[in-house]
Amino acid sequence: MKSRSIILGILWAFLYLFLVLTPLFVMLATPSQAGREVWRDLSVSLGFIGLAMMALQFVLTARFKWLKAPYGSDLVYHFHRQISFVALILILSHPLLLFIFSPQTLALLNIFSAPWRARFAVVAVLSLMALVVFSIWRKKLKIDYYSWRIWHGILSVLAVGAALVHVEMAGYYVSTPFKRALWIVYTVFWVGLLLYTRLIKPWWLTKHPYRVVDVNEERGNSWTLTLEPFGHKGFKFHPGQFCWINLGSSPFSEKEHPFSISSSAVKPGRISFTIKELGDFTRTIRHTKVGESVYVDGPYGAFTTDRHDHAREFIFVAGGVGITPVMSILRTMADCGETRKLVLFYANRDWESITFREELEELKGRLNLQLIHVLERPHDNWDGKSGYLNREMLEEIIPPELSINQVEVFLCGPPPMMRAVNRIVRDLEIWPGDFHYERFDLV
Ligand SMILES: Cc1cc2nc3c(=O)[nH]c(=O)nc-3n(C[C@H](O)[C@H](O)[C@H](O)COP(=O)(O)OP(=O)(O)OC[C@H]3O[C@@H](n4cnc5c(N)ncnc54)[C@H](O)[C@@H]3O)c2cc1C
Repeated sequence: MKSRSIILGILWAFLYLFLVLTPLFVMLATPSQAGREVWRDLSVSLGFIGLAMMALQFVLTARFKWLKAPYGSDLVYHFHRQISFVALILILSHPLLLFIFSPQTLALLNIFSAPWRARFAVVAVLSLMALVVFSIWRKKLKIDYYSWRIWHGILSVLAVGAALVHVEMAGYYVSTPFKRALWIVYTVFWVGLLLYTRLIKPWWLTKHPYRVVDVNEERGNSWTLTLEPFGHKGFKFHPGQFCWINLGSSPFSEKEHPFSISSSAVKPGRISFTIKELGDFTRTIRHTKVGESVYVDGPYGAFTTDRHDHAREFIFVAGGVGITPVMSILRTMADCGETRKLVLFYANRDWESITFREELEELKGRLNLQLIHVLERPHDNWDGKSGYLNREMLEEIIPPELSINQVEVFLCGPPPMMRAVNRIVRDLEIWPGDFHYERFDLV
């Protein structure tokens, strides 16, 4: 499973490179007009690569399971974020080179007198810059998540749409039938993607609703929502995966939230999500009524033990509500009679706030599970681990001089804990391919 996923991962990476560089190859393959300066061709090439990258951003965020499977959603979103800086630099280099080598082109910035091709270029570049600024400083600018998502959608369509119109109007590099066909294919593909993500997928979700069958309070200010498919069979999932949940609004709206499935994958006809009360949406979960409709888009993610059949042992490190994907894994393993060694480090504020505390004790009886609680604020007489999870605690458990593929480590918890454990894992020289994490803060 692991090698298949690595091969697929390499294949997608090459396909991505190929698609990004195709416009450049096509441009280079056709001879340039006599007397045309090299810097001008270079400037246009950089713009083309940047534009292809921007158009492909829509593929990265379109939630194609086959694309995300080898990497996991987290890595794909991370790549989406990082590559947007590269695309911005490439796209900005296009006009900057023109301005440097041919200063009279600066006049094209005057949108009142400039031709339409230049106006579209200005709209594309400004939209792209706004996209990047709002995404980096969303929290500092106090833009709430829903508004950001709506604007992110509008600005990205504007950036790519205006850039494509600019290419078409500039004309020179789409002058031959082959080059023209290439940009038509890119444009049709991009518009098709938009239709799929904005219309077809949400419409499909409305035809495959779920119903709430139980709402149960858990320790640690959390609520478990249990759902059943309504009028369809639902989906199979790997334990540890997550879904996008739309509760109380239409799938056409942006009001969806990601949550890990916490129930056993052996019973896919009844799925549960355990949700901690943290903000505007999650505080409404307690008021959910049995019978309410929910739209569930999933499953997604690569945070699952199913991809690591070869492992001798699994070590889970969870903090607070980060236990949810691990709980799904443990419940599934117990239902399947798993016998391999399992260790769970579970960090919480105090004894009373440990979500699933009693069930985890029961699971020790059904699994070869060593459960290590770490409490930030332990009560008197607590003889377990206390404070923050640290290197010494992990070193006690992780065998020294680990060889590759023996022990798989899974981490999910609040951001400071994720950062700390990430550092420890690096210090302990665990092979990156044996270390897996799920971040609950995508943006
Ligand atoms: C892969 C994944 C799995 C998750 N699994 C769980 C889980 O099992 N249980 C659980 O309690 N929480 C889980 N979360 C976190 C959960 O999605 C957020 O806590 C929740 O969306 C916050 O919404 P809010 O309106 O209550 O909070 P707010 O206070 O409004 O938002 C807090 C922050 O949460 C993020 N956020 C808000 N809305 C969204 C959204 N629609 N989509 C993505 N991020 C958003 C933003 O960064 C925002 O700044 C998971 C997150 C991810 C990415």
